[in-house]
Amino acid sequence: MTQAGNKVALVTGAARGIGRALAVGFSEAGYDVAISDLKSQIDGLQETQAAIERNGRAAYLQTMDVSDKKDVQSAVKRVLSEAKHIDVLINNAGILRPSTLDVLSEEDFDATMNINVKGLLFCCQAVLPSMQARRAGSIINIASIAGRGGIPTQGHYAASKASVITLTRVLSQEVGTFGIRVNAICPGVIVTEMGRKVLGTEEQQRHWMSLAALSRLGDPQDLIGPALFLSSEQSAYVTGQALNVCGGTSFD
Ligand code: NAP
Repeated sequence: MTQAGNKVALVTGAARGIGRALAVGFSEAGYDVAISDLKSQIDGLQETQAAIERNGRAAYLQTMDVSDKKDVQSAVKRVLSEAKHIDVLINNAGILRPSTLDVLSEEDFDATMNINVKGLLFCCQAVLPSMQARRAGSIINIASIAGRGGIPTQGHYAASKASVITLTRVLSQEVGTFGIRVNAICPGVIVTEMGRKVLGTEEQQRHWMSLAALSRLGDPQDLIGPALFLSSEQSAYVTGQALNVCGGTSFD
């Protein structure tokens, strides 16, 4: 892996799953990493922090609820005062509460939109002024292949991830002149706590595997390389794109 120099990445939802893998993977690549998650996930966050520090990098830990604008703004302010700058923002925090649309509760719809869409926007808004001042930065939004076409029992989640792809495209056009790139990653089924909600029985797992050209489920580690690529100069001319990382499940 290439060394990042004095680079700092901020990863939301970093207490476990994909967020933890990305935070630790970025520290292996030489980044210092600011990690955040809900207060209730402090134990997991501290485990992520220890793994980053074992790689010899600084880990700036902040609890924040991405759907709370004030919380986000003060947490990002604290990160900036400690780390001095943020080169890469990875908007990873998200929720999935499966339900068919006919009985979907208003509470689950609102929570999904508030965290997956509004929370992601709040994080961008909190970090952008410092990136604009430095005329540099890379934002990576974790969407989903569900946001491409939709999956039964995930209508609200799919709508939130389609919104993430659209916000990514529009934001990239608004901040490109500042030298800031904005891209999305659309994972397929990745084995995490969230992924297990989709996988269900062994038979369903075999079904999901059979849908992938690579005939396997995703591992959180599979996201590290694509995210490092989108953060680095190797992708200097890539912005406003949504990259599927799904083993060949979706071709949209
Ligand atoms: P995960 O294991 O459920 O981890 C998500 C983390 O985000 C949890 O620690 C969660 O805390 C936290 N979080 C939830 N609400 C938050 C909030 N309001 N503020 C801050 N943190 C919050 O999920 P994952 O599988 O790693 O997923 C990470 C991202 O990838 C999500 O955006 C997800 O939609 C996307 N994705 C996942 C898959 C998959 O198959 N796993 C596929 C496509 C896309 P709590 O547990 O306390 O809620």
